[in-house]
Order: sequence, then structure tokens, then C-alpha cells
Amino acid sequence: MKKHNFSAGPCILPQEVLKKASDAILNFNNDNLSLIEISHRSKPFVAVMDKAISLVKELLNLPEGYSAMFLQGGASMQFLMTSYNLMKVDGKAAYLDTGAWSSKALKEAKLFGEVDVVASSKDKGYNYIPKNYTIPSDTDYLHLTSNNTIYGTQLKDFPKTEGLLVCDMSSDIFSRQIDFTQFDLIYAGAQKNMGPAGATLVIVKDEILGKTGRKIPSMLDYQTHIDKESMFNTPPVFAVFTSMLTLQWLKDLGGIAAIEKINEEKAALLYAEIDNNPAFVGFAAKEDRSSMNVTFNLTDQNNQEKFDKLWNEAGINGLKGHRSVGGYRASIYNALPLESVEVLVNVMKQIK
Ligand SMILES: *Cc1c(COP(=O)(O)O)cnc(C)c1O
Repeated sequence: MKKHNFSAGPCILPQEVLKKASDAILNFNNDNLSLIEISHRSKPFVAVMDKAISLVKELLNLPEGYSAMFLQGGASMQFLMTSYNLMKVDGKAAYLDTGAWSSKALKEAKLFGEVDVVASSKDKGYNYIPKNYTIPSDTDYLHLTSNNTIYGTQLKDFPKTEGLLVCDMSSDIFSRQIDFTQFDLIYAGAQKNMGPAGATLVIVKDEILGKTGRKIPSMLDYQTHIDKESMFNTPPVFAVFTSMLTLQWLKDLGGIAAIEKINEEKAALLYAEIDNNPAFVGFAAKEDRSSMNVTFNLTDQNNQEKFDKLWNEAGINGLKGHRSVGGYRASIYNALPLESVEVLVNVMKQIK
């Protein structure tokens, strides 16, 4: 039987997507060739890329004027590509520091210009989202991380800024309804809510590009990939195909509105057990709790052996917390069924 997979990333994908993806590895499009041994410029694969891009725009409800592309290098590559493409020569960018990923992003930005860290939650081990900070009016952009995968915190509201708004949505894109048009650039590594590792989704408002006064190497220039429809060089064909299947799965389910309901139900069930069972304590501040990564710990470490044995026996995988936080982290991404959360909660009920 398939395990209950709470892995933080790479992570669970819908079973039917895995089945279709493995079929395509052997015989894609009934052509008796594998998906991964044909030209990415062949008609059937170009259709896959077009479909993936159009599903992204449809699911996120993006109007004309936005481009979506599938790139490589992970979300980590976007830490520098965002600055390279958006920070003016002698420019300045603002960053909200809500964890390790934000910190890594702003470290790269410092190579391109001045960085203003508008607020940080480092003082409390990143267990909350800073609020009531001011954003300088002279910044080229403000960079946010919508969901902090390691700590289990999530931005519920997004600030307004006079500059551009950039968001790393690696671990919560396609999980909840937000107005995606409030952002000028969104990026997300595929391996948390969309597909296997190897592809990174970037969405950008076309009109913001080409205004920095910098010369940008072709591979790092968003305009290159927009102009070539993510086919400037060989794209990660398997990751794009499998992402397309996941996006189609999400659409068939009823889109983001439908999955958001399920995600809220899963999160509510798990947080209720953390709050009601004195054997457990949550890590993140309540108002900032993530609906994707649920971080918690035992109140009495003497229960550790028993708890670890029980969840392992229940067929649960990937519950160990990130090494920097410790404790436990249950990642309850889109593809994780409610039933898996019920199994975990039943195990937790056996610890008192
Ligand atoms: C996982 C993650 C990253 C890093 O993604 P890579 O694709 O491994 O570079 C960046 N930001 C967030 C929020 C993440 O969860």
C-alpha cells in the first residue's frame, strides 16, 4: 500500500498523475516512443508545453499581459534572476525576511544593489510573520516568501508597495485563492505543489521587463524565455509533462477554489489536534499558521520513541521536522488526501 506521504519536498503527487507519467515514459502519445527520448521540438511535446502554460494562466486567473514560463535551476536560481532582471543599476530592493529561503534570496540580491530588509522574524526563530513595517518608496521591488516551508508560517495578507511586488510561492502556489494580479512576478519550484523537481515556474507581468539598464546574459534574461516560449534550450521535458498532468488534475477537481476547501479542512483537523492534545505544541504563531506545512513538537520528549514508532507503523513518511527547527513537520500539500491526515491525527490521539 502507498505510504501516507507528508514529505516537505520533493513531495506527494496525485497517484493518477504518477501512473500517467510512468506510462508516458514507456509510450508517449501512442507513438511507441518514450516522452524522454523524443525531440522537445516535436509537435506532441510542443503541445505539452503550450498546455502546461495555458493551464497555469487559467488556474491562476491571469489576464492578458502576463507570461508564464518553465525554467531550470530551481527556485534558488530565481533568487538571482529576479534581482538581475528587476533591480536597476544603482537600484534598491526591499526584502521581508521570514526564513531561510528569504535570507538566501536577499543574499543574492546584495550582489546587484542595495537591499533593505524591511522586517525580519529571525528574533524568534522565524515562528511568525512580521507586520506593520514600512516599505521605502524608492525601492525597485519588494520580495516576499508567501509560505515558509521550514517553519510552517504563511502570509495571509500581502502588503501594497509603490515598487514591484515579487513573491516566492514555491510551497503554496495553486493551494489557495488569492488575487495573483497583485504580483508583478511570481516564482515557484515545481517540486512542492506542482510536479517533480527539475522545473521552476515563473510568472511575470510583461511590461516590467527590460527597464534596469543592465546587460543580462541570455539564459538569465526572462525575455529570452518568453520570446522562445520556454524552448530557448532543451526544457526539462519530464518535469514539464508531469506538472501539466498535475495542473490538469487540479482543473478537473474544480481548480484552486475546490482544493482550497480541502486544504483548509486538512489543516483545521491537524491544528485542532495540536491545540487540544496537551502532548503536542505548535511551532508557528497561530494567526500565521501555514495550511501547507504544519510544524509541531512533543511537549514531553519522553514520548518521542513511542510517537515515532506509532507513526512509522501507520505507514507515515516524512514527518521529521527540518534540522533547523527540530520536532515534526507534516506537509499537507494539494495531493495529500484528507485520509492521510486522519491517520496522523489518530496516531497523535494515542499520545497523551
Ligand atoms: C524549497 C523552496 C525553495 C528552494 O527550491 P529549489 O527548487 O530547491 O531551489 C525556495 N523557496 C521556498 C519557499 C521553498 O520552499
